[in-house]
Amino acid sequence: MSTADPTPSAGRFAPSPSGELHVGNLRTALLAWLFARSTGRRFLIRMEDLDRTAVGADQGQLADLTALGLEWDPPVVYQSDRLDTYRSIIDALRGDGRTFECFCTRREILEAPSAPHAPQGAYPGTCRDLTDAQRAERRAAGRSPATRIRADVTDFTVVDELHGSYTGLVDDFVIERNDGTPAYNLAVVVDDAAQGIDQVVRGDDLLSSSPRQAYLATLLGHRPPTYVHVPMVLNPEHIRLSKRDGAVTLADLAARGVTPERVLAHLAASLHLGEPEESVDVSTIAARFDPSELPRDPWILTATEWT
Ligand code: GLU
Repeated sequence: MSTADPTPSAGRFAPSPSGELHVGNLRTALLAWLFARSTGRRFLIRMEDLDRTAVGADQGQLADLTALGLEWDPPVVYQSDRLDTYRSIIDALRGDGRTFECFCTRREILEAPSAPHAPQGAYPGTCRDLTDAQRAERRAAGRSPATRIRADVTDFTVVDELHGSYTGLVDDFVIERNDGTPAYNLAVVVDDAAQGIDQVVRGDDLLSSSPRQAYLATLLGHRPPTYVHVPMVLNPEHIRLSKRDGAVTLADLAARGVTPERVLAHLAASLHLGEPEESVDVSTIAARFDPSELPRDPWILTATEWT
């Protein structure tokens, strides 16, 4: 990338401000920062606040990133400020006949027989070809529709730096929920494109969403980003770490005398970029960073990690 490039490419960390970040989120943030900075990209933060949020959680999350030494390029973008943009894109897709109204409940979808040849887990197509009269009937019964994309593929291939070429399901997924909120799968694609994000580093629980998102990006005329789906942090039962596991946020750990510097050293060690007892900062970790050497397995976090 030349320095004269008017829209330098970017990576990002996109937390949901529903509470404090835990060690798993912080490790993903560190990786997103390392991948962006080591490739000369801007590093952006986007608050994905279309769902449940907790007052002040955004500021707490930013403070935690700062405490680890992770700097981002301002401004922090809030999805709740971008509702008009999402709506106009949804309207444009609707105007192009690329969507349909779906009145199904979650349960109806689970219980519906799957369409012939439809892959497991795909939307069964129940509302795809409803007549005007059938739609009116459902509305009259008090149901409000979600909006689904009318997909013209059943799978799509993305490129992932850790997983290689990954092909996964694309079905008629929801782009606007039945309460009128733009769906995550729509907002993430619109924002990544608008912010010049061409590298998406996030937890590998989202790998299976990436074909849908990349497909939507191409429908909207954007080049899909390169993905890096990184291994998750798991608890001793090998279940995805959550706050219920206790002592997993910077605040919890500080209360036990574990400083952010020590947390950073442990995160680096878990990525084979340092020793747990070492004094290390993010620029030292960045100098050692080699994506090809990253561990490919989840990090199992046990209570003895900090003792
Ligand atoms: N907001 C999502 C989360 O916190 C991440 C979405 C993404 O990185 O695309 O899990």
